[in-house]
Amino acid sequence: MLVLPITVQADGEHSVAFVEAEIVLPMQPYIQQIFIGSGLILSLMCFAWARALRSYSMVILAIFFAIKSFGILVSGGVSLLTLFTENPQILKVEGLLLACLSHLILFAFTIKFFTLKKFAATSYQLLIRLSFFMVLAVPFAYFFAQTCVWLLTQILVSMSLIALLYAVRQVQEQRLSTIFSLTLLVPLSFNFINYLLHYWQFSAQLINGLDMLAFWLMAIMVTYLMGRKYYYHLRDERLAQQQVLASAKASELAQQKLLALQEESQEQLESRVQERTLELNIALQELEAVNQALKEKNTLDELSGLYNRRYYDEKILAEFRRSRRNLTPLSIILIDIDHFKLVNDSYGHLTGDKCIVEVAKRIKSLLRRSSDVGCRYGGEEFCLILPETDAQGALALAQDICQSTNKQQFIDDDIVIDLTVSCGVATYQQEQGVTPEIIFASADKALYKAKQAGRNQVQVSLLSET
Ligand code: GH3
Ligand code: MG
Ligand code: MG
Repeated sequence: MLVLPITVQADGEHSVAFVEAEIVLPMQPYIQQIFIGSGLILSLMCFAWARALRSYSMVILAIFFAIKSFGILVSGGVSLLTLFTENPQILKVEGLLLACLSHLILFAFTIKFFTLKKFAATSYQLLIRLSFFMVLAVPFAYFFAQTCVWLLTQILVSMSLIALLYAVRQVQEQRLSTIFSLTLLVPLSFNFINYLLHYWQFSAQLINGLDMLAFWLMAIMVTYLMGRKYYYHLRDERLAQQQVLASAKASELAQQKLLALQEESQEQLESRVQERTLELNIALQELEAVNQALKEKNTLDELSGLYNRRYYDEKILAEFRRSRRNLTPLSIILIDIDHFKLVNDSYGHLTGDKCIVEVAKRIKSLLRRSSDVGCRYGGEEFCLILPETDAQGALALAQDICQSTNKQQFIDDDIVIDLTVSCGVATYQQEQGVTPEIIFASADKALYKAKQAGRNQVQVSLLSET
C-alpha cells in the first residue's frame, strides 16, 4: 500500500480520483531478496564470529549488516510507512535515517575495532562530532525538500566514509587497517558514482543496482576481513601457546640449573666447611701444643729440666688440699748441695751449673712414682713433693738421693768433683692448723739440722716442732 500526502485548501472545491496503477519497484524483487538474504546471512555470520572470537566489534558489525539489509529493503521500495502509518512524513527522511544509523554503527565498529580512543584520539573526536551532526540532521531533514534530503544523505554518507578512511589511516600500523581502508573505498567510490548518475539523471533502478553492488563488494571485503581476523586470532593463540610452552620450558630449565647450582654450591660449601673444620682442628691442636709448650716453659726450669719454683707453689697447694680431702700423708724433701759456693769458686759458675744439672738428673732418676714432683726451688736447692708418702717413705727416698750423689763422682773436663747433698724431710699427716708453708718450713728446719750435723745426710722434722 502506498500512502501519499494531499494538501487541501479550505476555499475551493476538490475532487479526489483514485486510479488503479501498477507500482513499479526500482528493482526486481528476487534480486532484492537475494541481497537482503545475503545481508542477513552476513549479519548472522558476524554474530557467530563475535561469539567465536569473543569480539564486541563483531557484534556491532552484525548490527550494521542487519540495518544495511533493512536499508536495501527500503531503497527497494518498502517504506517504513508500513510500520509507522501515523507519520507519513517519515517517507521523506527514512533514507537519511537508515544511512545515518548504519554509519553511526560503522563508526562504533571502527572505534572499537582499532581502539581509536587510545591510538587516534583526534579521529575519535572527529567521528563523535560527526555522529552528533548526523543525529541532528535527521529531525532537520523533516523541513527540507525531497531532493535536498537525498543530497544531504549522500553528503553525510560521503563525509562519514572519508572521516572513517582518515581515522583508519591514522592507525595504519595496526593489523587489517589496509583491508578495512580498501573496504571503505568501495562504498565511497560508489557514492561518488551515485552523484554523477544523479546529476546526469540516470534511472533510479540503475542507481539502486549500483548501491547493491557496492554493498555486495563491501560484504565480500568484510567477509575477507573477518577471515583474516580469525586467522590472526588463531595465529596469536598458537603463538601465545608456543610462548607459554617455551617460557615454561625455559623456567623448568632455569629451575633445574638453579637446583644443580644449589647442589653444587651446597657440596662446595660442605667441603669448604669440612676443610675449614679440619684446618681449624689442626690450628687448635697446634695452639694446644703451643699452649702446652708455653705452659711447660712457664713451669719448667730451663737449666735442670725439673719444675720451677712457680710450679712448686701451685702444686704444693693442690696436693695439700688433696691430701687433706683424701686423708693421705704428704711429704716433702728439701735438698741442698753442700758447699756449693766452694764449687763455684773453685771451678767456675759454668761447672757449678753442670753440677746442678747432674744432681737434678740423679734426683729425677730416683723419682719412681708418677705422682712425685721434682722442683728446683732456687740456686742449688731442690724440693720434692711426694703425695701419699709417709715419713718413712720420704726418709728412704732422701737417703737414696744422698747416697746416689755421694757415691758417684762428678767428672767434667777431667775435673773430678765430689758432690754431696743434705736433705730435710717433713711429712703432713692430717695435723691440725698446718699449711703448706708450715710443711716447707719444717723441711727447711730439718735441712738446717742436717747441715748442722755435718752435711751429706738426711734429717726429719716433725710439724709439731715448727
Ligand atoms: P752449704 O753447704 O751451707 O749450703 O754451703 P753453700 O756454699 O752451698 O752455701 P749456700 O747455699 O749459701 O750457697 C749457695 C751458692 O750457690 C751461692 C751461689 O753462688 C750459688 N749458686 C746459686 N745459684 C746458682 C746457679 O744457678 N749456678 C751456679 N753455678 N751457682 C749458683
Ligand atoms: Mg743453699
Ligand atoms: Mg748449699
